Amino acid sequence: MKLFKFISLTILVTCFTCFTQGADDHDEAGDFCYVSEECGPESEKWGGACKTGSMQSPINFIRRPGQISTPVHLDFNDMYASEDYWIRNNGHTVQVNLNEDPTSAGEMTGYGFDRPYIFAQIHFHWGEDDSTGSEHTLNGAAFPLEVHLVHYDSQYPSFSAAAQSGDPKGLAVLGLWLAPGTEEDINESFDTIAANLPILYQPNESHIPIPLDLHWMLPDKRETFFRYMGSLTTPNCSEVVEWTVMETPIYVKPSEIERFRQVLNHEERLMRLNYRPVQEIGNRQVEYLVRDW
Ligand SMILES: [Zn+2]
Repeated sequence: MKLFKFISLTILVTCFTCFTQGADDHDEAGDFCYVSEECGPESEKWGGACKTGSMQSPINFIRRPGQISTPVHLDFNDMYASEDYWIRNNGHTVQVNLNEDPTSAGEMTGYGFDRPYIFAQIHFHWGEDDSTGSEHTLNGAAFPLEVHLVHYDSQYPSFSAAAQSGDPKGLAVLGLWLAPGTEEDINESFDTIAANLPILYQPNESHIPIPLDLHWMLPDKRETFFRYMGSLTTPNCSEVVEWTVMETPIYVKPSEIERFRQVLNHEERLMRLNYRPVQEIGNRQVEYLVRDW
């Protein structure tokens, strides 16, 4: 009888766990978080390569005075734009896609890439004031907002296939920093994203029937950037990313950066501080490059 009770209770508890996990979309990335002991970066929610990897992201970039950048080709086609877009607060970040699926006709080619890399989605990392928020840092200093333009190797049929490939170059992420400019800074594409920023957690994307052009996020000719081999910055921290991070931030309205700090997670708490701390570079090489003509 006692045994029966124990089994019943076990089934009940197990099923409750299954149900809550199934009902909660966060099992897509495990229910990790950034600030608490139970689910933050030091917890077991950040397992696998997050703990054991040797090529983890983000990192701090050291820029020495007088350091010379090496000119390389880096190219983007004209398809980083759409007549409409999709946006979602997934509880960990705000993600923007040009299609309902994380794919597009946008392609990045050039230095280090054997094939075109297909643009999938952008998402953001931010903090609680202008001194925190970015994942990568420059000479130890953070920027208030970091954007990731996630691309996948066109030899894979989809973003998720590339992310799960184990291929160290399965994904290529272009990172850039946003910094506070003035309220007069006009940036139609960032203005529409900020204006449509989903403050509350959503199970599905919202369709925004407004044109979005992301070319302003792409590096200009003669712009300097860092390149290194790393990982996803959320669990399971797979080491499948060739990183390209631009050195010069792009300036946007301070009120728009502030708006990100109002975004709530699935528990209706402020999402801010959704950046992973910098990781050891180890014996990796970080290249300092410049986009040539
Ligand atoms: Zn990211």
